[in-house]
Amino acid sequence: MSILDKFAPLQAAYSSLKEQGFDPFGISFDSITSATEGVFQGRSILLMGTNNYLGLTFDPACIDRAVDALTRYGTGTTGSRIANGTYVQHSALEAALADFYGRDHAMVFSTGYQANLGILSTLVGKDDHLIIDADSHASIYDGVRLGNAQVLRFRHNDPNDLYKRLKRLEGVPGDRLIVVEGIYSMLGDKAPLAEIAAIKREMGAYLLVDEAHSLGVLGEGGRGLAEEVGVDADVDFIVGTFSKSLGTVGGFCVSNIPDFDVLRVACRPYMFTASLPPSSIASSLEALNQLRQRPALRQRLRDNSEHLHAGLRALGFQVGPTVSPIVSIALPDQATAIAFWNKLLAAGIYLNLSLPPATPNNLCLLRSSISAAHTPAQIDRAIDIIETVGLELGVISPSERPVLV
Ligand code: PMP
Repeated sequence: MSILDKFAPLQAAYSSLKEQGFDPFGISFDSITSATEGVFQGRSILLMGTNNYLGLTFDPACIDRAVDALTRYGTGTTGSRIANGTYVQHSALEAALADFYGRDHAMVFSTGYQANLGILSTLVGKDDHLIIDADSHASIYDGVRLGNAQVLRFRHNDPNDLYKRLKRLEGVPGDRLIVVEGIYSMLGDKAPLAEIAAIKREMGAYLLVDEAHSLGVLGEGGRGLAEEVGVDADVDFIVGTFSKSLGTVGGFCVSNIPDFDVLRVACRPYMFTASLPPSSIASSLEALNQLRQRPALRQRLRDNSEHLHAGLRALGFQVGPTVSPIVSIALPDQATAIAFWNKLLAAGIYLNLSLPPATPNNLCLLRSSISAAHTPAQIDRAIDIIETVGLELGVISPSERPVLV
């Protein structure tokens, strides 16, 4: 008997997964050599499943700023934001984020996960309602669990369902907070934000958008889906992360709501954890500058996304209708997905294997995410290898190529 006995079914499923090849949840790279390449078990590997959308992890200026901060301010703050863990750099990054979004307030958290935990559990209380998209990220679900608000889920990307649920709450006291994501992390689809913003206005709710995957990706200025759709003014809270397009680690929330800063002394995942090291803050700040000053990165990312999406679609893979930097291939069953993923890794490409229950509609997915740093030749190589494996496993067939118009 062991305290871990309750995990026996999970242990069995995981063991069976590992018996089929590499351990999809235990990959450990020997080294990472650029934004798009690494070494795995002594072999060079093409990285097609990171969230390094702008490819800034090896940007010389970002590295310089981090090294300089490391040398001048040390390896870590050893304290929380509300004790000894706020340096001028943390405040400067908050000011830069507020300026970027044109908002009055910004709070930096130690991760995006913690930003969602903190904001969702603190903003709404037991007399309030959280209305979240059913396909929300784990950090949103966990934020819900940490707080006391009443929770309603609406069908993924279904504004009518959202409307109906809010309508049923008419007359019920308390605040309502709608939570959606700019780009959903598994399939790369976007929230129907114009419709959701209209509903929010009509029903007098607050709206929070998690732009984790859309910061630096969508919108003329790279601010995300709210900017792209032109509904910035309707979004009361934007949550985001530094761990994707900014290539570092950390999370944030920006808002125009008066007295936002009271959250600094109310929000436990902000208060009771160490703040980010100055080196991460310094490189995040530089990456934000680059995001603002180099719109060409965004264009390259769009071109690369189009390239991968069109290439896979033309071969007959099921990639979903939306072109975004997240391109997921749906496979018929778990065994095929696992075999496919293993063969790709053996051939030198790393993608994410995403399996139920972590996926929407219990899909078995090979999730790739593209970077502005990928070259067209790397994308062609990835498409070629994915084609070879797809043919080998009978996922696609040359006689069933779709006719694309
Ligand atoms: N929100 C969404 C939608 C995400 O996909 C993620 C990360 N996968 C997060 C929040 C958490 O971000 P972080 O990596 O900074 O904890």
